[in-house]
Amino acid sequence: DPSVRLDFYVSHTLGLSRKEAKTLISRGKITVNGKEIKKANHTVVAKDDVFYGDEALPWPREKYFVMNKPMGYVCATEDGEHPVVLDLIAQSDQKDLRVVGRLDLDTTGLLLLSTDGQWLHRITSPRHECSKQYRVWTADPVSDLALTELCEGVQLNNENGKTIAVEALRVDDKEILLTITEGKYHQVKRMLAATGNRVVALHREKIATLTLDGLEEGAYRSLTDAEVALF
Ligand code: URA
Repeated sequence: DPSVRLDFYVSHTLGLSRKEAKTLISRGKITVNGKEIKKANHTVVAKDDVFYGDEALPWPREKYFVMNKPMGYVCATEDGEHPVVLDLIAQSDQKDLRVVGRLDLDTTGLLLLSTDGQWLHRITSPRHECSKQYRVWTADPVSDLALTELCEGVQLNNENGKTIAVEALRVDDKEILLTITEGKYHQVKRMLAATGNRVVALHREKIATLTLDGLEEGAYRSLTDAEVALF
């Protein structure tokens, strides 16, 4: 059976630093099965009842979120200049949270965040080839030839071999839906640049079968177990 230290348990369920959790414990604020426990290294198992005052603390679970990233936010935990996506997450949910892949400062849309290192690794691994669909608005009309080029592969600077889109669909003159599986630096912008065009706005709509489905800009929600299992 899984077991964790009490200070780990308290810090993760309450979203505190390890130090803050240790302080709560040493002050006798935490009970396990009705008994005050003041030792940070006390072992907790799943069937134990852990309380902070009247508040039952559930077993600490990995967190999985989908967010609709607004423009002007950096995909990082800290940035000297711009607000970061973590600022949009409730304080109690921020602990150990990492972003899956990166969207540019001016890119909007579907972003995944999690505390689960293995899951994060699986999604970003090139072997996994997880598809990502972007809605792309361009400065100039996208020709039929350009759509073909994007699917047959374009040569990007400093990349070996061609970079292909698995699908490029026209929505309008200057609007396409582009699906890619890799996550190269500024990939969509560079692919359009390789066709002689320029991206003026970029929005990620989909990763695998997961969509934003009405999630408002700046909002986030937990993934369901079924959604976590998609990756
Ligand atoms: N491709 C880009 O150029 N920018 C992004 O943010 C994502 C994909």
